Amino acid sequence: MRIVRGWRQYLYDDAGRAYLDAINNVAHVGHGHPRVVAAAHRQMALLNTNSRFLYGSMVEYAERLTALLPDPLRVVFFVCTGSEANDLALRLARAYTRQHDVIVIDGEYHGNTTAVDEISTSLLDNPAAKDTRPWVHAVMRPNTYRGPYGADDPACGEKYAAEVRAAIERVRAQGRSPAAFFTEGLLGSSGGIALPDGYLPHVYAAVRAAGGVCIADEVQVGFGRVGTHFWAFETQGVVPDIVTMGKPIGNGHPLSAVVTTPAIAEAFRATTSYFNTYGGNPVSCEVGMAVLDVIEQEGLQASALEVGRHFKAALRDLMGRHALIGAVYGLGMYMGVELVRDRDTKQPATAEALALAERMRELGVIVYPTGDHYNILKIKPPLVFSRANAEFFAAMLDRALREGVAV
Ligand code: PMP
Repeated sequence: MRIVRGWRQYLYDDAGRAYLDAINNVAHVGHGHPRVVAAAHRQMALLNTNSRFLYGSMVEYAERLTALLPDPLRVVFFVCTGSEANDLALRLARAYTRQHDVIVIDGEYHGNTTAVDEISTSLLDNPAAKDTRPWVHAVMRPNTYRGPYGADDPACGEKYAAEVRAAIERVRAQGRSPAAFFTEGLLGSSGGIALPDGYLPHVYAAVRAAGGVCIADEVQVGFGRVGTHFWAFETQGVVPDIVTMGKPIGNGHPLSAVVTTPAIAEAFRATTSYFNTYGGNPVSCEVGMAVLDVIEQEGLQASALEVGRHFKAALRDLMGRHALIGAVYGLGMYMGVELVRDRDTKQPATAEALALAERMRELGVIVYPTGDHYNILKIKPPLVFSRANAEFFAAMLDRALREGVAV
C-alpha cells in the first residue's frame, strides 16, 4: 500500500482505495481532524519558537492536562516523543530516590533512547535486554490467559503482584532498592492485556514501601481510549507518582508530556535542569488543546466505551466459532486477538496471524500482529471508529477465518 491520505478512521492509497484503519491510536481523534489542523496552521503562522520564551498557551495547556489528573500530579514537563517522556520519568525517579534499579513487566516496550531501551524487555525489540542489564528486573506479565493464575482465581491480581515483591527482595539482597516500577495501565505493547483486579494496588504499595516511585506509561493507552476512564491506570484505582503521555496527545503531531508531583520535581531541580527545544512549543500546545477539545466535544471517551463493548462482544462471538482465536484481550478501544494453533497447548499461530493481516488488508482493513510471538492482532483504531466499522471488521475477520489461512 502506498498511503497518501488519512481522513477520520480511513486511510486512502494512491489508487483512491479506502482502508478501515484499525491500528492507528496515534490519530486518536481521527486522521486530518479539521480542528487540530486549523489550530496547528493558525499558530504556525502566528508564532512558533523554542520553549525558552514565555507564552500563555504552555501554562494554559499544562493546567488543562493536570485538571485531568488526580492530586498531587501537578507538575508538567513537555517533551516530543513517548521515549523522551519515559526517559525523563526515569531521570526524575532516579533523582528523587537516588537509586538506579528499575522493575518492569516482562515483554513491555517503553521507547528508544539508551535509558528506556535498557528497560524495554519486549522480545521483538530487545531480545538481549534481560541478560545484559543487571539493574533491570523484569517480572512475570500478569496475563490470566497464559500465566499460572487464571481469571477464575479471585486472588490472581495479588498473586501476580507477589512477583514484584520478590523482585524487590532480590534487589534488596544486593544492598540496593528500586528507583521505579514502570508499567502501562493496560499492557498495550504486549497485545492489549488488561491487568487483573487488585494488581496495581498491591504492586504500588510494595514499591512505595521499598522507597521506589510508580510510573504509569500512558503513551499508548491514555486519553479516554479505555472507555471507563480517561487514563488506563485509573481502571486499577491507583494514583501514580509519574505519568507519561505521547502518541494520541498530539493526534500525530510530535508532542508528549510527563506529569509528576511537586516533591519529585523539586528533587530533580536540586540535582539538574531540564531543557527541551521543541517540547511544548506554541504550535504543540495549541494542537494539544485542540485534541482535548475534540475528545470532550465529540464524546470520544464515551464512544470508546460503547463501541468498544460492542466490538469486543463481536470478537468474542468469533472466538466461539473459530478455534484459532485463543483469547480476546482489552478494554474500551484497545484490544488484542490472540491466535493459537491449539487451545490446549496455546501454541502461537504466528504465520497465521500474518496471513490473516494480509488477507484483511485485501478485504480493506488494516490490522497487524504484535506480541512476543507476533500472534496477537492489535486493534487500536482512531476513536471516531463506529459500531458499523466494528461490525465490518468482525465480518471481514470472520470471512478470512472461514476461508482458512494458508501458511
Ligand atoms: N511507551 C509505550 C508503551 C510505547 O508503546 C511506545 C511506542 N510504541 C513508547 C513508549 C515510545 O514512544 P515513541 O515511539 O513516541 O518514542
